[in-house]
Amino acid sequence: MGQISAIALRRPKGLAARAVLFACVLLIVTAVLSAATVMFGAQRESARHQLHVTQGLAIHLGTVAGDLLAAGDMHSLGVMAEQTASRSEVERLAVYDSSGAVIVQSGGTEAETNATAAVAARILETREVAYERAAGGLAIGAPIVREGQLVGVGVIMWDGMAYRFAALPALAPFLLILACLVIAAIPITSHFVRRAVAPLDTLAEFAERIAENGEAAPIELRTGDEFETLATAFNKMIGRLDASMRQIQEIAYVDPVTRLPNHDRFVREVDHAIMQQREAGAGAVAVFELQRLPRLLQTLDPDSSRDFLRVVAERLVASTRTVDRVVRLRSQQQQAALPARLGAAEFAVFVPDLASQGEAARFAQHLNAALNQTFEWRGHKLTLGACCGVALAPRDGRDAETVIRHARMAMGAAQNSPARVKVFTQSLDREAVARVTLEREMRGALERNEFRAYFQPKINVATGRVEGCEALARWIRPDRTIVSPGRFIPVAEESGLIGALSDAIMREACWKAAAWSRSGYPAKVAVNVSALQFRSDRFADQVLRVVQHAGLAPSQLELEITESVVMEDPDRALRIINPLKEAGIRLAIDDFGCGHSSLAALSKLPFDVIKIDQQFIRALEQGDEQAAAIVDMILALSRTLNMEVVAEGIERREDMEFVASRGCHWVQGFLFGAAMPAAEFAEVLRRQAGEEIDSEDAA
Ligand code: C2E
Ligand code: MG
Ligand code: MG
Repeated sequence: MGQISAIALRRPKGLAARAVLFACVLLIVTAVLSAATVMFGAQRESARHQLHVTQGLAIHLGTVAGDLLAAGDMHSLGVMAEQTASRSEVERLAVYDSSGAVIVQSGGTEAETNATAAVAARILETREVAYERAAGGLAIGAPIVREGQLVGVGVIMWDGMAYRFAALPALAPFLLILACLVIAAIPITSHFVRRAVAPLDTLAEFAERIAENGEAAPIELRTGDEFETLATAFNKMIGRLDASMRQIQEIAYVDPVTRLPNHDRFVREVDHAIMQQREAGAGAVAVFELQRLPRLLQTLDPDSSRDFLRVVAERLVASTRTVDRVVRLRSQQQQAALPARLGAAEFAVFVPDLASQGEAARFAQHLNAALNQTFEWRGHKLTLGACCGVALAPRDGRDAETVIRHARMAMGAAQNSPARVKVFTQSLDREAVARVTLEREMRGALERNEFRAYFQPKINVATGRVEGCEALARWIRPDRTIVSPGRFIPVAEESGLIGALSDAIMREACWKAAAWSRSGYPAKVAVNVSALQFRSDRFADQVLRVVQHAGLAPSQLELEITESVVMEDPDRALRIINPLKEAGIRLAIDDFGCGHSSLAALSKLPFDVIKIDQQFIRALEQGDEQAAAIVDMILALSRTLNMEVVAEGIERREDMEFVASRGCHWVQGFLFGAAMPAAEFAEVLRRQAGEEIDSEDAA
């Protein structure tokens, strides 16, 4: 990480270098240009000066020559020409008369002679001073005028360099100073450029920090220029981005109702804790299901639901805060426990740093007890039926999802345990795997029609005859082994397969009962109804359709619904059973006595039969007087409500005699026969009919 940032920050500082180079080049070019301009100006000035001086000399020559010509002193003219021409700067000297003929001349090459002649010719024409630059130098001439008459021309050819101004030596100090200035200006420029560019560096570093880890402290630039504007804009932009990020995080990771962390956030935190403390053991995840909460929320309007959920969340948070008073944590600098809402009625708490499994169980019990305490809310007293599963990290999973899944598995097992709290064990996992396998096998078995109805005889106490039966599901595997419903019914209910399974049993039971009636051995058939079937709105229609298809008299069918399912919602039960009742189907409350029936509800529900739960018969066997009293009470109640009573699970003659003596109408149990295949049961009916005929014959 450190290496990455070092690489990222080692960026080329090219801008400052380029700015310095540019400034220096500009400086040098300016210096050179100004030196060149000065030199050029000096050169031009020098040429003008040369012309001016030589012009003056030429005019002077013309005047002197004119005087000598007027005096006719040709000798002096010749001497003057000789002397003048002998000077080093004079290349040639010539005096012409008014016709252009040479009067006196001295020195010069042919080219110089031609040049002076050309100048003389021009002056004779224009009568003005003229000059011409030739290879040898500058030929300049002046008219010789006497009394207004042009009498001749004097031309002198000067060396090109004569009277020239020596510009370079003159400008040398100036150029030297310029060079020194340039040399001194380079570091100064570099310094100022770097200073000017420094805020840009700060901005660039700031941008890099943001790109690298997404956060940076606000940037401070007080330059009073565009850099400051840019820095302020950056700060504002980052501020807005931060706010947006916080908002996004909130939407993504916080439950909007309770403000608790949601499932995703919880998973992240637990994963993080597991990563941090892999070796030491990270902590415990407790998942809570509030079983009565969904139904309760259904009865509330949305605002009240949210309000109540917040009350529940507050209690969870408050008891989570006191968790360190209940359990021992491994380290002193403990991290806070994290409560979260995982689903509609599912909460969770993660305690990092728990010392042991025992501590985890205690902590879960503490929280579960808090959630199970009655909520006094808006004048109502509400209990939520919380149960809790605990899993330890990393013992029960190396990632959060696995730990949570195992905690949920433990929670499933806790639903049936008296303490309502369970710590995950490997055997739970094995059970879960076995359940999944069983579920898969059941799907195949349903397709292959391996679920069959077996029939247990029911004896009418008044006649002592088999006049009915209860259809009980059996799974007959291809190897002829028989699986009892105790194993597959719970899995079928959990997986939703119970619907298809119960339909199959219902169909078989109805068809078989109709066939027995047609053969002249009528028997009532009782079919068990699962909780899931009973909750379906289409249940009554489906039953009526099966009865009609089978051609069974509705009064021959009895539906057994367990007490707990009926009492869950008596109004709804009434709505569902009414059409069945109207069609003539009989209705029985199964396993009566172990649920929480309300007498008021019971009196309103049009049930025909009560089946006393087997546990009371078992208790009778053990001489339990209370059980006898309860059986008595149920029988008295049924008389009042005009219902028939079935005692099931009768294994001993004494029990049969006891219930019969108290007015029980029907008995069922191993004493009279276990559940048997349809053919066998038909045989029982047939044999019973045969015996009757025999006894009638004997009479
Ligand atoms: P249940 O409806 O109360 O059925 C009575 C259970 O008691 C049956 O167990 C029966 O075999 C057993 N039993 C009968 N007589 C005696 C006895 O004398 N002594 C003892 N110890 N047991 C006796 P089974 O067949 O194992 O069924 C268990 C439960 O599974 C049933 O209880 C019923 O709730 C459910 N079940 C069975 N078949 C179906 C079905 O087709 N659909 C649904 N939804 N549930 C079914
Ligand atoms: Mg039953
Ligand atoms: Mg029963």
